[in-house]
Amino acid sequence: MERPLSEALFAEAQRHIPGGVSSPVRAFKAVGGTPPYLVRGEGAYVYDLDGNRYLDYVMSWGPLILGHAHPKVLARVEETLRQGLTFGAPHPLEVELARRVKRAYPMLDLVRFVNSGTEATMSALRLARGYTGREYIVKFRGNYHGHADGLLVEAGSGALTFGTPSSAGVPEAYARLTLVLEYNDAEGLRDLLRARGEEIAAIIFEPVVGNAGVLIPTEEFLRALREAKAYGVLLIADEVMTGFRLAFGGATERLGLEPDLITLGKILGGGLPAAAYGGQREIMERVAPLGPVYQAGTLSGNPLAMAAGCATLAFLEENPWVYSHLEEMGGRLEAGIREVLSRKGIPHTLNRMGSMLTVFFTEGPVRNLEEAKRSDQGVFRRFFHGLLERGVYWPPSNFEAAFLSIAHGPEEVDRTLEALDRAV
Ligand SMILES: *Cc1c(COP(=O)(O)O)cnc(C)c1O
Repeated sequence: MERPLSEALFAEAQRHIPGGVSSPVRAFKAVGGTPPYLVRGEGAYVYDLDGNRYLDYVMSWGPLILGHAHPKVLARVEETLRQGLTFGAPHPLEVELARRVKRAYPMLDLVRFVNSGTEATMSALRLARGYTGREYIVKFRGNYHGHADGLLVEAGSGALTFGTPSSAGVPEAYARLTLVLEYNDAEGLRDLLRARGEEIAAIIFEPVVGNAGVLIPTEEFLRALREAKAYGVLLIADEVMTGFRLAFGGATERLGLEPDLITLGKILGGGLPAAAYGGQREIMERVAPLGPVYQAGTLSGNPLAMAAGCATLAFLEENPWVYSHLEEMGGRLEAGIREVLSRKGIPHTLNRMGSMLTVFFTEGPVRNLEEAKRSDQGVFRRFFHGLLERGVYWPPSNFEAAFLSIAHGPEEVDRTLEALDRAV
């Protein structure tokens, strides 16, 4: 598969844009090689500048649950854009989307729209601090909540769990307000709550992790999270990835969670920039203009993103077969990958929930970042390039989830397994 046009353009891009990309993982650093410039998509397939076709498992990193260029989404966006792009005033589609979000998440009284998942989690944490009057937050290693300062933090080396910055430019003093624990460490969480529960404003977590590759929460871990409420700690379920994906009501519905605040993004915007945070009235009424917690946005709730979100959520609500289809195809892909890798004696652990999955090249189990990192990256690179050269576009990092859409049917799964079979 030749990509001369992509290669030339990527070389030029690096003269204008840091690393040639607008978001780091797109640069293929983890796997090597040149990323193709994708210029068209339809259903489960994308086409690059050189005319190559790929079966896509990146799906824009999560938003495109209906596949690329879904006619219902495009039609709604098109009809909306002819009226003008943005007004900076209330718009009817915000009300429609809020109504739809609340049908998916009945525990939400109020939702505020923002432009990215980063903004949603950053704002939810500010709100949690404003509401509780406490300063500390807890996050889990390998959970990604966007790139706000207080979240680019990793576990410190000391006996305690004080965070240290995981990015240059994040002040040490600020990072210390983030306490970091291992995912699925129920006992660690209970110990921390007993020691410092009364200082903690919120625990933010991915209910099913996609950003360390897929990690599934244990029942015990979910129980320990629920116990945090007894300390007056707010639970923030970061459903930016899982929202509307694991079920119409996301992980909250699928796992029976009762978070205080929920952050949404990705599918919510149907492929355009929209995200949200929401919760019960008593908490959300602290947000400006009702309350003292400030948060704003020039393009927040913009009509185009609201239109794409409304069309996507409408489709999901009206077509409940979507989730059984995703489960069935996810299961079929999982079983097939396991079979091919086992037949060739390649050690692996496959973590999947519904339409998100990761193959780790280690015996497993993989329950946290530490265990995910045991995955053999040399093997992953060969897996990735082996698929790419055969027209299957897998996420270019082992610590990301692959996504299916409704356009991934039996034919696509079989095509993937054939490519994998030849690659291994
Ligand atoms: C993608 C993601 C974010 C960040 O969203 P952006 O729109 O990229 O800022 C936050 N949390 C989770 C769980 C995500 O998957």
